[in-house]
Amino acid sequence: MHKQTFLHELLGRMSIEDKAAQLNLLTGSMDATGMKDSGDLEAKIRAGRCGAVLNVFTPAATRALQELALASPLGIPLIFGYDVIHGHRTIYPIPLGLSCSWNLDLLERCARMAAAEAAADGLHWVYSPMVDISQDPRWGRVAEGSGEDPWLGSQMAVAMVRGYQGDDLADPASVVACVKHFALYGAPMGGRDYNTVDMSRRAMEETYFPPYRAAINAGARTVMTSFNEIDGIPASGNRWLLTELLREEWGFQGWIVTDYTSVTEMKNHGTAASDADAAQQSLNAGVDMDMVSEAFLAELPGLVASGKVRESLIDAAVMRVLETKWDLGLFENHLARCDPSRTKRTQLSVENRKLAREAAREAMVLLKNSDHTLPLAKRGTIAVIGPLADSRRDMLGCWIAAGDEADTASPLDGIREAAGEDATVIYAPGCELETGRKDLLTEALEAAERADIIILVLGEGCHMNGEAASRADIRLPKCQRKLAKRLLKTGKPCVLVTMSGRPLELTWEDSKFPAILHAWALGTEGGRALADLIFGDAAPLGKLTMGFPRSVGQVPMTYREKPTGRPFDAEAQYSSKYLDTGNDALYPFGHGLTYASFRQGAVSIDVPEMEPGTCVTVSAEITNLSAHPATETLQLYLRDVVASVSRPVKELRGYQRVTLAAGESRVISFEITDADLSFPGKDYQAVVEPGEFVAMIGPNSADLRAVHFIRTA
Ligand code: BGC
Repeated sequence: MHKQTFLHELLGRMSIEDKAAQLNLLTGSMDATGMKDSGDLEAKIRAGRCGAVLNVFTPAATRALQELALASPLGIPLIFGYDVIHGHRTIYPIPLGLSCSWNLDLLERCARMAAAEAAADGLHWVYSPMVDISQDPRWGRVAEGSGEDPWLGSQMAVAMVRGYQGDDLADPASVVACVKHFALYGAPMGGRDYNTVDMSRRAMEETYFPPYRAAINAGARTVMTSFNEIDGIPASGNRWLLTELLREEWGFQGWIVTDYTSVTEMKNHGTAASDADAAQQSLNAGVDMDMVSEAFLAELPGLVASGKVRESLIDAAVMRVLETKWDLGLFENHLARCDPSRTKRTQLSVENRKLAREAAREAMVLLKNSDHTLPLAKRGTIAVIGPLADSRRDMLGCWIAAGDEADTASPLDGIREAAGEDATVIYAPGCELETGRKDLLTEALEAAERADIIILVLGEGCHMNGEAASRADIRLPKCQRKLAKRLLKTGKPCVLVTMSGRPLELTWEDSKFPAILHAWALGTEGGRALADLIFGDAAPLGKLTMGFPRSVGQVPMTYREKPTGRPFDAEAQYSSKYLDTGNDALYPFGHGLTYASFRQGAVSIDVPEMEPGTCVTVSAEITNLSAHPATETLQLYLRDVVASVSRPVKELRGYQRVTLAAGESRVISFEITDADLSFPGKDYQAVVEPGEFVAMIGPNSADLRAVHFIRTA
């Protein structure tokens, strides 16, 4: 039957209670991702009081619930959603880590793999990509995003949406993407999760909105609201945000789901007096589906009866949900995703593990490497020390869906597998993750004495970042720093591997260790990928997508800062600076070394003036100074020197990954068009203003060579 005819006929048979039920998303108990549970889920499904379920997966568990839904009075199939954030069964690096690959094709392939594995586990809908820009590493959820840069973040958002949704939702390897958290969730005051956001419209337009918008333009079917308020009004009740901006201005056609219980949390915000008030505000603001609070289910019928909510609004919301169910093929083949043989074939396959290893390699960032300390030779006695050195669970990171530590390689596993016969690998944890209770130090010092080289693996455990995991101190935990000090005192050569879900403050470590390799939480194949880099079987490629501060006192911080009226000048008393640290990051945005060194020449431009509608080409020569092939990611930044509103001192507008043979030189060019010069003008509409621009090229956001040009009127 024709889709619209079928769906309208179905809608015509629905009571207001049935309609409210389609907008009711409930949670199962295979995972707990919020404070409220949904009580007797099965009874609610049997009674036709639920349209979608989260936190239930596997063919058997989804089949059991789907059959209940099909036997309910209207027999409308359920949609199953889950937080598939960086893989479903085969886990790849946390998103912040993966973003450091700057490899859009890799991101898309990873999302495609996650979609296939999730779909093979009965799922239709993933709560990803999280595209919240953040400049605050105290916020634990930076682990789930793509860093601080809106231009790069937008491209990554698009790659992920493409990977999840594919070309056709009815493809059994596609899932519906959910762009979250709309909006501005990455800027909570003090970096404290769930805290208030207070932001200028300009910051929204220039920095925070672009990735949501890009993901929506790429066809993302659903959007999740954020927990925070926007200009005093919680996102889940914010009509300006959800209807005027998202639907009317940006043209979003899909459906909007709230975050977990955020409808009734409006009572805590102090903007709703009751559940009914909250449901009314939320539905009228533009929300389609209520995650777990059940206020829509309980209150919408009464609100329609009293005329506080128009039934036509509810109908539109229901139609959006039903259409997605149709597009997923759910009305035709209800149990298509409940086939266990498919699960077996799809999950943790050799190819999937291979992709996870490739992704893990590309996610790592070599922060420091004096005197070519890394890579290490596969010989002698290698002591692998640290509370994370043999942790498989922490290698997976936060949000692991159906990931299992039993399938995972820890750093020690990977190093042991790779070290070969000429090396002896010994291990000691050295201390606990966060506390110094047990005495593990003696054993670690003994291991160090026996060793020719120490690989020290320190950082955050998986519970130390992600949701509800903000930190006011982003250094390594005290007991770990103590372990590091004691090991350094032995005088044995020692390289540091750091793991975390956020930029850390590594100023002390930077001053003490010859080499630091940052390994995030790399997923299932993390340990093996780490060993690949440590022993030089592969070279580091990653570039930071979020700067590492010198001190937590500098944050929030970004390389895209505005110039200010009193720009930084170390010598000038009345300039914008700190008395006790620099303004710059310890490891800036875009930073990441490899095992080779390069030389970059001056930047040239083909014509000194750029006419409207044309382009200019800026170029620089880069030379591989090492005796083997090597890869560098060259970056292009732009500055608009004088404009009607102040513009950042630099903004990323291009990058290229280039592989050069030993000793090879090559000229790398970037084309600059009007789109690259455009920014939200005084009225927030995109504008290009004539005048002077600076184009800068370099291997990171701090180490740049520049050329000036004029954009004519
Ligand atoms: C998180 C969302 C997540 C949802 C469902 C919330 O607490 O903020 O990111 O998708 O739970 O698990």
